[in-house]
Amino acid sequence: MRVADFGKWPDPVCCARCFPLLLVLPVISRPPSSHDTRAPIAFIDLKAQRRRLGSAVDAAMMRVLDHGAFVLGPEVAMLEARLAERAGVRHAISCASGMDALVMLLMAHDIGPGDAVLCPSFTFAATAEAIALRGATPVFVDVRPDDFNMDPESAASAIAALPAHLTLRGIIAVDLFGQPADYPALSALAARHGVWLLADAAQSFGARLGNHAVGSLGDFAITSFFPAKPLGAYGDGGAIFTEDARLRDILLSIRVHGQGLDKYENVRLGLTARLDTVQAAVLLEKLEIFDEEIVARNRVAARYAAGLAGMVQTPQLAPDRSSVWAQYTVRSDHRDALVAALKADGVPTAIYYPRPLHRQAPYAAALVAPGGLPVTEQLAASVFSLPMHPYLEAEVQDYIIERVCAHCEHR
Ligand SMILES: *Cc1c(COP(=O)(O)O)cnc(C)c1O
Repeated sequence: MRVADFGKWPDPVCCARCFPLLLVLPVISRPPSSHDTRAPIAFIDLKAQRRRLGSAVDAAMMRVLDHGAFVLGPEVAMLEARLAERAGVRHAISCASGMDALVMLLMAHDIGPGDAVLCPSFTFAATAEAIALRGATPVFVDVRPDDFNMDPESAASAIAALPAHLTLRGIIAVDLFGQPADYPALSALAARHGVWLLADAAQSFGARLGNHAVGSLGDFAITSFFPAKPLGAYGDGGAIFTEDARLRDILLSIRVHGQGLDKYENVRLGLTARLDTVQAAVLLEKLEIFDEEIVARNRVAARYAAGLAGMVQTPQLAPDRSSVWAQYTVRSDHRDALVAALKADGVPTAIYYPRPLHRQAPYAAALVAPGGLPVTEQLAASVFSLPMHPYLEAEVQDYIIERVCAHCEHR
């Protein structure tokens, strides 16, 4: 079983097989040693959160079972109001997954064959997959080595090199590992070319850039409630954020088979892409503790940064940005040996992402920014992520830090 429960698998059969395991046991067992009787270290400890939520979340789910409005029940609208408020935008539209949120926005903007959309290659598959699924052409752009997010200069050169048969329609920026991308620079670039900027905030809901919360960055944004994301449900879910009431109306229609004024009028093609009421109920409970969890995640990140300085390259935050640390991702030139040694010590790690999307079969026809994606290639060969969740105890984290340092010092 993989601990890589965050990036997930493109194969739905595999997902169906592994998903139950992932919720129950995202851990790797540690070989026993005489002085060490601790439980296996979790990469993401959903069980600890479950214990903390206690009976509140059980009661919330029971309320849904009792009222029986499983589809678009009252909790869905309540959640959407809370999400919009938190993001500081007028409208939040919940949906069945982050992937659906991306696809719904591309459908709403009529993105299709002949259209080009920029996105990073160093991201989870869904970002580019949504573009390709619509028949449009992903144009892969390099990322910056400091924040792992889209490099506005690479984006500008990709736009300049776009072949004449393609029309640039938009840019999808990803807030990788929880830190917002460079929205000031990317918004200016999008505006200069008269296209939209979509924020793929699947990993960053709860983070900020200056005075702006994630959800309000870009022209519109999406997030994901996949269980291992910072704000995760007990199943799949997602949301779209926008200021635009007309766009909201189109998305609400797409969410339910392109429905018009009543449910038997279909004015466009759509999907079954609603968020289950029971997931909305779970998320409402999780939102109650989300701010404290973000503080705890930042405490864990600070402890890593202090303990690992000089051993591996620790992640950098831009001065005006905060992160929700969906992952704590470090870099090492000896990544594979280090990961193997940590595994032997019972320290689970994961690699996001070992294979950039532009090197994967479904994107053979996609375009790549001029000069290729050297930073992306370098990151794919050197990054790995350490256990990160709000319930990581200091002594367990100190053990992880101590093991990383020991292996780095002995090189
Ligand atoms: C998880 C993720 C998605 C997709 O979200 P799902 O809810 O799993 O469909 C999209 N983009 C990024 C960057 C992600 O990490």
